[in-house]
Amino acid sequence: MKAVYHPAQRAHDPKHFLSSGAPQPNPEQPARVDALLGALERRGIAPAAPADRGLGPIARVHTAEYLRFLQTIHARWRRIEGASEEVIPNIHPDRRSASYPLSAVGQAGYHQADTACPISAETWGSAYWSAQTALGAADLVLGGARAAYALCRPPGHHAFADLAGGFCFLNNTAIAADHCLRGGRRPAILDVDLHHGNGTQGIFYARGDVLTVSIHADPARYYPFFWGHAQERGEGPGLGANLNLPIPRGTADAGFLDALERGLERIAAFGPDVLVLALGLDAFEGDPFGGLAVTTPGFARIAEAIGRLGLPLVIVQEGGYLCAELGANLESFLSGLPAG
Ligand SMILES: [Zn+2]
Repeated sequence: MKAVYHPAQRAHDPKHFLSSGAPQPNPEQPARVDALLGALERRGIAPAAPADRGLGPIARVHTAEYLRFLQTIHARWRRIEGASEEVIPNIHPDRRSASYPLSAVGQAGYHQADTACPISAETWGSAYWSAQTALGAADLVLGGARAAYALCRPPGHHAFADLAGGFCFLNNTAIAADHCLRGGRRPAILDVDLHHGNGTQGIFYARGDVLTVSIHADPARYYPFFWGHAQERGEGPGLGANLNLPIPRGTADAGFLDALERGLERIAAFGPDVLVLALGLDAFEGDPFGGLAVTTPGFARIAEAIGRLGLPLVIVQEGGYLCAELGANLESFLSGLPAG
């Protein structure tokens, strides 16, 4: 197993997070990286730094307007008298067909879905290298590796083409999948994070060339609320190329593995030649979000089931928050993959 990681991903250190209206410390902490690196080290895997593939592969997934916003907004925000240290929106257009504003406050509302994606001076650099890490893992697989792990942080699957949200800025999973497509492959995406991969779904919703499958806690009463329901099947050429498998809060290994089997059947029927796996570890029973109840050995069983597809794997780290078992859960997952 090869792995990719760039230390610049550690610099983004968000402070702000509102949970049911109450200010809390932001759970997407740089220390997550240490737990995940520790897991790789215990498995004898030394991650390599990715090459810099530039903005091109990122701009095929995200709008130019949004990329410029991410790169410039913090400096512009700090020129506003009395503004907060981090960029946090306080106004949103009621419909996104509304006009594009000139002001920093207006653009923050336009490009940030919620208060869980504060932007500091370090955010762009960390998000950029997180995306480059995903591209590096995709290139390893395009070059013939059976599997490659991208230690991406900040995560990406809640980011739409022009919208940050849920700790995510650049959609690393979507960028990796699109890169595989440009490399002549037929990619499918499987998202096993606790939360629905709404940004990934949004990016590919009207496209039939990339299958998107997500298993997650039922959004009827859980983030991201507005997306992730079973009836969302794609549109236009993408109709039928999006499968959501919401499962009840508190579902443990057996229920998760049942949903996974249904997802894997759909993936096999799509006939992909590479799988991009959005690997959230927050479905864990002891994760601070507490939404599902997958056990540490359960992650190995998830990996075994995915491995039976026999597809080359680009594994992109998504969620999974600080708890004593975070590293052990990654170790468990990696131990369940086929050797080699
Ligand atoms: Zn998550």
